[in-house]
Amino acid sequence: MKGWIYRGIGLWLMWAVTGVNQVMAEPVAVVASFTILADMVRVIGEDRVQVTTLVGPDGDAHAYQPTPVDARAVSQAQVLVINGLGFEGWMERLAQASGFKGRMVKASTGVKQLGQDPHAWQDLNNAKFYIDNITRVLTEVDPERAPAYRQASEHYRADLQALDTEIRHQLAELPPQRRKVITSHDAFGYFSAAYGITFLSPVGVNSEAEISAADMARIIRQIRSEGVKALFIENISNPKVAQRLAQETGAKMGGRLYSDALSGADGPAASYLDMFRHNVATLLRIM
Ligand SMILES: [Zn+2]
Repeated sequence: MKGWIYRGIGLWLMWAVTGVNQVMAEPVAVVASFTILADMVRVIGEDRVQVTTLVGPDGDAHAYQPTPVDARAVSQAQVLVINGLGFEGWMERLAQASGFKGRMVKASTGVKQLGQDPHAWQDLNNAKFYIDNITRVLTEVDPERAPAYRQASEHYRADLQALDTEIRHQLAELPPQRRKVITSHDAFGYFSAAYGITFLSPVGVNSEAEISAADMARIIRQIRSEGVKALFIENISNPKVAQRLAQETGAKMGGRLYSDALSGADGPAASYLDMFRHNVATLLRIM
């Protein structure tokens, strides 16, 4: 009788422990280098991931200086998601200094890089690589919940495809002479190649570069000779350069494009897909 009771309690305890495990499985600790990747990880991982973002909303990852708080987050991460393609030049040192022991994934792996340009997320078709790479690493570190990651990932890919088709329809209506605009740094090369809008800028693909007087003179000549109608400021950059170019050339200020970071949760580009919707709507409004 006694033996039976003990065995009963033992079984009950086993059931209770495995039951608790299933309900309260710890979320995977993920660190994402910047907001766009963090959003992708959250869409794919839902409540199965706990995401920390290093470069926050409206932040500039090119010029970022990691903090001790970042180092602590990275040291505790199971997965570290970065863009790669030379975007986060500071990451390798941070990962080493923090003693990171988890899995690092370059979300852009598989993308065809355009020159030295790291902004591959500005083409929705490239995001399919990002989604696949993020999904793969999550299913590897958390195989029990792999089906849930794969399902969320498939939905995400479908949403992305639908938005890509919609954007192509919208932009197709623009006449060729209205397809040239100015931004502050060269962040829209992939958008340009994918959707047929030409972006000119006074500096290159790295926002850290100083704008020289010669750069300004060149871009002013270009705005005049090519009849560029609109200038856009970027959420991560100082608007002064664009404002000065507008004064000098008479081109219109066309609003704010989200290039290298999402907005805060209350802003117009709080998710990766909303960033695209907002940018295209902003381009169409002025053009
Ligand atoms: Zn950039």
